[in-house]
Amino acid sequence: MPTPKLVACATCPAVPAKLIGGQCASCRMKAIRGPAKYQWTADMDDQLRQVYRRSTNRLELTAELTKLCTAFRVPRTALSNRSNTRFEQLSSVQTVD
Ligand SMILES: [Zn+2]
Repeated sequence: MPTPKLVACATCPAVPAKLIGGQCASCRMKAIRGPAKYQWTADMDDQLRQVYRRSTNRLELTAELTKLCTAFRVPRTALSNRSNTRFEQLSSVQTVD
């Protein structure tokens, strides 16, 4: 087996001419945008929504979101993305990241 000149994407079988961060352009884009790689349930959405409703200031919101990250086992970025896409109307309180 000769060594292939092109390296496959780390995420999918594609062998693009150019790898970005070890991934093809398509996978890289998904990685940046945050694909649905975490299992979100209606209950998680509900808890997230409640946190936004309960929190009266950004420190409180940040603390509550940190707890949810631990409970959901998702990175903070995923939680932020979720709340930004789902609860824009409730995100007037900005978090401290
Ligand atoms: Zn790929």
